[in-house]
Amino acid sequence: LVSRKKKSEDTVININGEQIGAGTPTFVFGPCSVESYEQVAAVAASIKEKGQKLIRGGAYKPRTSPYDFQGLGLDGLKILKQISQEYGLAVVTEIVTPAHIEEALDYVDVIQIGARNMQNFELLKAVGETNKPVLLKRGLAATIDEFIHAAEYIMSKGNENIMLCERGIRTYEKATRNTLDISAVPILKQETHLPVFVDVTHSTGRRDLLLPCAKAAIAIGADGVMAEVHPDPSVALSDSQQQMDIPQFNAFYDEIQKFMKQY
Ligand code: PEP
Ligand code: MN
Repeated sequence: LVSRKKKSEDTVININGEQIGAGTPTFVFGPCSVESYEQVAAVAASIKEKGQKLIRGGAYKPRTSPYDFQGLGLDGLKILKQISQEYGLAVVTEIVTPAHIEEALDYVDVIQIGARNMQNFELLKAVGETNKPVLLKRGLAATIDEFIHAAEYIMSKGNENIMLCERGIRTYEKATRNTLDISAVPILKQETHLPVFVDVTHSTGRRDLLLPCAKAAIAIGADGVMAEVHPDPSVALSDSQQQMDIPQFNAFYDEIQKFMKQY
């Protein structure tokens, strides 16, 4: 169902007035984790100032260590909902278990399926049974074929509002946190009719690579770019090494807009 052979036109998903997949790249900025109302509000204000329509932030965090910050859970979703109403931003947030989906439907605009859950088939089927847009991230070591099949799991249950997100894969290379598979973008665009995003934060794990990789993503035809922004990354409860602070976000945004005007 996700195959280009089944449907030749691009799927366009309307979220909060943003036509995702219609030609102009969409941006999803926001903190790695929801930590407090004030923290998310600071980022939301900057996003709104740039005229952007979406915000991300994790309430359920899939962390490597059980002793690391696990997210605020439902309280985090409530913060996101409040921010959404106050700033007019659509919320993109990760859901990690089918048990949380029903509750989350009232709070979120886009359900993110994280890399670690790309092949959590019961979760894929459960989001497939909703009509919420889904941002599906590529698994840490998933082939493109496996990634496409994960999207197929969702669509096979009736939900056609799926966005794919390349977020880097694990290779032997240690210079970056993951290896951004930039060629996945045109392959996914050829093989499927779905919008394709690039997460420049988790793929690189390096603040100095966010802008060049975002340019590469847009140049190669990505429909959207995701990047993490935190008011004070040095005290962030997750991914403190790679989030942009607000002045860095402003500079990133202005540079990428300048770059896009060249096309
Ligand atoms: C995230 O976007 O918050 C995240 C955890 O990313 P990934 O699932 O790609 O590691
Ligand atoms: Mn993160």
